[in-house]
Amino acid sequence: MKAIIVGGGIMGLCTAWGLARDGHEVELFEQGPLPNPLASSMDEHRLIRHPYGDHVGYARLIDDAYVAWDLLWDDLGQRFYAITGTLALTGNGADWAERSAAALATIGKPMTELPVTDLTRRFPQIEAKGVERAFWIESGGVLFAQDIVAALARHLARQSRVRLHPHTSVRSADLEQARIVTEAGTAYAADVVVVAAGAWVGRLLPDLGRQLVPSRQVVIYFDLPAEDRAAWAKGPMVIEKTGDVGLYLVPPMEGRGLKVGDHEFSRSGDPMAERTAREDDIQPLLERCRSLLRGFDRWRTDRLKACFYTVTDDERFVVEKHGARGWVMSPCSGHGFKFGALMGLELARTLASDRDAAAHARWSAGLEAAAPT
Ligand SMILES: Cc1cc2nc3c(=O)[nH]c(=O)nc-3n(C[C@H](O)[C@H](O)[C@H](O)COP(=O)(O)OP(=O)(O)OC[C@H]3O[C@@H](n4cnc5c(N)ncnc54)[C@H](O)[C@@H]3O)c2cc1C
Repeated sequence: MKAIIVGGGIMGLCTAWGLARDGHEVELFEQGPLPNPLASSMDEHRLIRHPYGDHVGYARLIDDAYVAWDLLWDDLGQRFYAITGTLALTGNGADWAERSAAALATIGKPMTELPVTDLTRRFPQIEAKGVERAFWIESGGVLFAQDIVAALARHLARQSRVRLHPHTSVRSADLEQARIVTEAGTAYAADVVVVAAGAWVGRLLPDLGRQLVPSRQVVIYFDLPAEDRAAWAKGPMVIEKTGDVGLYLVPPMEGRGLKVGDHEFSRSGDPMAERTAREDDIQPLLERCRSLLRGFDRWRTDRLKACFYTVTDDERFVVEKHGARGWVMSPCSGHGFKFGALMGLELARTLASDRDAAAHARWSAGLEAAAPT
């Protein structure tokens, strides 16, 4: 079988990997360089964690996601992951951490509730201001996202069954005939076309623009004193919802930066527009950092980064068959990277078999425990 893949982010590359390791041919088209620094997948890190609020379907997929990453590490000859554990904090009427703990208890992954009085003793880098309940689970960590994407692109470039076309924007995709035409006017045909175009999907397939809404998100990298950095370099990852602004903190594992972002979808912006982030974008987040992180007044903003992803109304992934010979692959809503290897392997299996497309879409939306057989 031969597949055309549009998009060289984690989803397109992992699907190419899955197809090539099963002996299929792939042509992958990326509008920018490979990897493309503007892709959603291209940041120092992305988190993987079991706590998932009420979305027990995604919590259940995390173990499968780890198995898929391990297979990728084997193929790449390197592991791009550091374990941190997951600390979920809640208060002020928010109950995401409680709901996560309750959902995980139903699937045999209990979280431990830490008395708030013990929280700062165990994690002295945290101030407990505003925190009413704290839950801990040993699992969870940091995927070194841009290093994974770069290593995977290099790995695929060495595969005889894969042809990579960087700097080749696709102008149109015919999902009935499995044909694409590039901006330069060259046509390519295959047995199937997979569109994994991230936040640009609505440009290529305008009908999907309302369902998969681009969302501009700003994250902050901090420069912090050496002793604070050393403390945070042991973790934990923090997912916090105690104030108006909920934040996540990615600890500086294995020499990477310390990053903080929020959970609010902007549901606006154009991924083709300029990416300059302004201090105004992050004032509420800085305020929350001040009350949650010990010694924060000594931290300095190292850099701001504006990224884009797509969001759906229910935050579920969209991996669906469109047309007789096409698939749209957008497992995102801001939480897809952790499933990149798994989503790619499973889509590759479905493309190359007669597995039920509707069942595959339900599984990737977190509505089925197992991928179709
Ligand atoms: C700030 C932020 C924080 C996040 N945190 C997490 C996290 O902690 N954990 C987690 O699991 N996920 C997280 N995510 C989400 C995750 O990064 C995305 O779900 C994932 O990277 C999406 O990958 P993708 O391959 O679908 O899209 P992308 O990585 O954007 O790749 C799409 C590619 O398609 C290319 N393309 C588009 N149109 C065309 C065309 N017409 N022709 C050729 N090429 C084209 C683009 O150039 C791009 O390279 C976060 C995202 C952001 C932005």
